[in-house]
Amino acid sequence: MTDAAPGHVWLVGAGPGDPGLVTQAGLRALHDAEVVLYDRLAPSELLDACTDDAERIDVGKAPGRAAMTQEQINAALVEHARAGKRVVRLKGGDPFVFGRGGEELEALAKAGVEATIVPGVTSAIGGLAAAGIPVTHRGVAASFAVVTGHEDPSKPAAQVRWAELATATDTLVVLMGVGRLDGITRALIEGGRPPSTPAALVVEATTPRQRVVEATLDGIAEAARDAGVEPPALLVVGDVVALRERIAPALRRPLAGWRVLVTRTRRQASTLAEALRAEGARPVMLPAIEIAHRADPDAVRAAIEALRAGAYQWVAFTSANAVEAWFDLVREAGEDARLFAGASIAAVGAATAGALEARGLSADLMPSRGSGEGMADALIEGGVEGTRVLVPRAEHADPALVERLRAAGATVDEVTLYLAAPPAAPPPEVLEAARAGEIHAVTFTSSSTVRNLVTLLGGDIEALSGAVVACIGPQTAGAAIEAGLPPQVVSEQPSVDGLVGALRRYAAEEA
Ligand code: SAH
Repeated sequence: MTDAAPGHVWLVGAGPGDPGLVTQAGLRALHDAEVVLYDRLAPSELLDACTDDAERIDVGKAPGRAAMTQEQINAALVEHARAGKRVVRLKGGDPFVFGRGGEELEALAKAGVEATIVPGVTSAIGGLAAAGIPVTHRGVAASFAVVTGHEDPSKPAAQVRWAELATATDTLVVLMGVGRLDGITRALIEGGRPPSTPAALVVEATTPRQRVVEATLDGIAEAARDAGVEPPALLVVGDVVALRERIAPALRRPLAGWRVLVTRTRRQASTLAEALRAEGARPVMLPAIEIAHRADPDAVRAAIEALRAGAYQWVAFTSANAVEAWFDLVREAGEDARLFAGASIAAVGAATAGALEARGLSADLMPSRGSGEGMADALIEGGVEGTRVLVPRAEHADPALVERLRAAGATVDEVTLYLAAPPAAPPPEVLEAARAGEIHAVTFTSSSTVRNLVTLLGGDIEALSGAVVACIGPQTAGAAIEAGLPPQVVSEQPSVDGLVGALRRYAAEEA
């Protein structure tokens, strides 16, 4: 216990699966949480919103370990809250739709613990929507019911009144029904629902693994078996299913389900991974660069001294890594962004400019061509003769920028900051997936990601022969061609959005 403040529990709906579908209030609660108890159905990415020291407790079933019982969960919530903690109980979908949220709140109320309920997007509505099935539709469906398929419909004491529901509602959404499809469809048909009613199963809705199986009411159980449908899945019965044909084309996402290799550093991978996820793709992380800091302290000291004295007209950054590494050193030297007051700053592309922006500096120059050559052109065009330029950069970086500036009459101080080295041990499952041809596309965001990936694959570039190669710009594309991985996709804008957009256009054209 850290202070005397009473604990509090937030019961948060995580949404149906896409981590983007949590509410702002839910995200804030996760951010502030000291303890999180989460379910199997809550998207694991949401846990990234928690601080590193938040305690994460998986209450769902894990292989080889029994799930916590509801009583144990209730007791744990009470215990952590009484210890003064901010506790989040994270549940798939909405906490009150077959989520036992009510029972947990009852237990908290009984124990005198304060709680907040943060509703979520239920899979029963949002999951159908993602498949292009509106739960109501003018002239087609004016009512819907959400029922559990968990209990055996043939049991005399069954709680769900299948016979009445069969005809009382236009749209019927059944959760937890995959194991009992035969019994459920039979009960509905016996209750008077026409066997020809359109039906569908939406599997893993809103995730990159989403699948839809459509059939008529009397055929959906068999169609599910044929397609190997497994939970979690939603069964939907009603004429709204037929609307899907007209609606789904608008929701088409060319990258849906694509497994895309992300090779940039762990620190930078998240924006690319998020942009890919937003397109429905599944990012597969294989950081091919680890930044090993290798700055020569004397060179760094001299450069900082010269910056302080206003000796540089330009500081040229050729990557976001360089910005990050350089700022780490500037901070270590007890300085901050004011150090740059006397110099103009050039950034090679949007990611580099973004890294500067994050540190309160906006680039004065961004070349239209995002490469060392492009930057040399732009600087030379503005006139560099007699100027002094600082270039903080990676070891083995393309020498073109420095050579051309020197040839144009500038004095260039290079400071080598880091070595872009491949990690010693890549995750074996990712390498296996690549070798098994399960990777649809590979993204390269710098020449070193290309070279290092090839090293990581032990030179076995055949492993990637089925994958689309996507490069962030011409220089990276050149490195890919040299490595024997000619790119199908080269983005015009050297940015994450440019890269993902170009890949998307390629996939749309190929589809
Ligand atoms: N509280 C949750 C439902 C919990 S019951 C909600 O509001 O969505 C668990 C059932 O929900 C699963 O068996 C399945 O039928 C359904 N479900 C949850 N997430 C799903 C998803 N992403 N895709 C398909 N069905 C899902």
